[in-house]
Amino acid sequence: MDDQDVLDEVSRAARQAAATGTVASYIPALARVDPAAFGFAIAPAPAADPGPVRGTGDWRVPFSIQSLSKVFALALVLAADGDTLWQRVGKEPSGSPFNSLAQLERERGIPRNPFVNAGALVVTDRLQSLTGDASGALREFLRAESGNPALDFDPRIARSERRHGHRNAALAHLLADHGKLANPVRTVLYHYTQQCSIAMTCQDLALATCLFARHGIRADATRLLTRSEAKRINAVMLVGGTYDAAGEFAHRVGLPAKSGVGGGIIAVVPGRCGLCAWGPALDDHGNSVAGITALDAFTTLTGWSVF
Ligand code: GLU
Repeated sequence: MDDQDVLDEVSRAARQAAATGTVASYIPALARVDPAAFGFAIAPAPAADPGPVRGTGDWRVPFSIQSLSKVFALALVLAADGDTLWQRVGKEPSGSPFNSLAQLERERGIPRNPFVNAGALVVTDRLQSLTGDASGALREFLRAESGNPALDFDPRIARSERRHGHRNAALAHLLADHGKLANPVRTVLYHYTQQCSIAMTCQDLALATCLFARHGIRADATRLLTRSEAKRINAVMLVGGTYDAAGEFAHRVGLPAKSGVGGGIIAVVPGRCGLCAWGPALDDHGNSVAGITALDAFTTLTGWSVF
C-alpha cells in the first residue's frame, strides 16, 4: 500500500466513526466547530532528510490544541529541570477523570501525572518560574517546531474557558493550599488557559511531534531533551496521554499519544514520524472518535507501532 492508499483508508474509516461522538461543550466556544471535520497528517521524523508532510481532509485547518499543549510544556520544563520535576508530579495512569479534585486531595497535592489538569497546572507553574511568560514561551517553541511563525492563541477560546474554568480554578487553589505552586493562582490559571487556547493545524502538530520521534532533537537539529528524557515523555504519554482510557488506546493503537478536548490526538512513531489526527466529536472519555479510529487504522495498515 502506498502513502496515498493509507491516507485514503484512514480517512474512510475515521469519517464513518465520527458520527458516534459528541463535541465538547463545557468550554462553550469549543462547541461551535463542525463535528464532521476530520484531518490527519504524517510528518517524517529524520532530521537529515525529512521529506514532505502528507495529509488528508482538514489537515491544514487550525483547531484548539487544548491538552496537546501539555506535552510540549512538559518537554520545556523537563529540559530545564531534569528528573527533579518528578518530585512534584507523578507518572502513573490516573484512572480518574482528567479534572478530578478528589484524586488531588487524596494524594496531597501531588498530581498523578503531568497530563491530568492538576499535573499540567504544576508544569505551567514551573514554566512560569523558568521563563516569566509560560504561555508566550510555549507559543514561540511551537512556532519553531512546526515552522509556522503565524500560529497563535485564540482569544475567543481563551475567554470562553476563563469564564467557565471553575474546576481548574478549584484545582489550582487546592494545589496552592498544599503549598505546591510557586506563582499566584491567577497567574498560573492565566498561562494554562492561554496555552490550551493555541490554535494549530494537523500539519503544525505532526511536525512539532517529531521532537519525540527524534528522541529529543528539535527541528533545527539541536538537542532539547536527552534520549532518556524523551523516552520518559513518550512513556507517560503511553500510560496517561489519552485520559482514563489509555489502556484501551494502547490496545487499539499501540503508540505514545496525547489527546485534547478540541478533538486533536498527536502520536509518536519513534524514529519514524510524528502524527496528528483531528476530529472534534469525542467519546465518553474525551478522546476524539475519528482520531482514535484513524490512528488505529494507520497502525494496522502500516504495522508501525511500538509493540
Ligand atoms: N483546557 C481544557 C481544560 O482545562 C483542557 C482539557 C483537555 O483537553 O484535556 O479543561
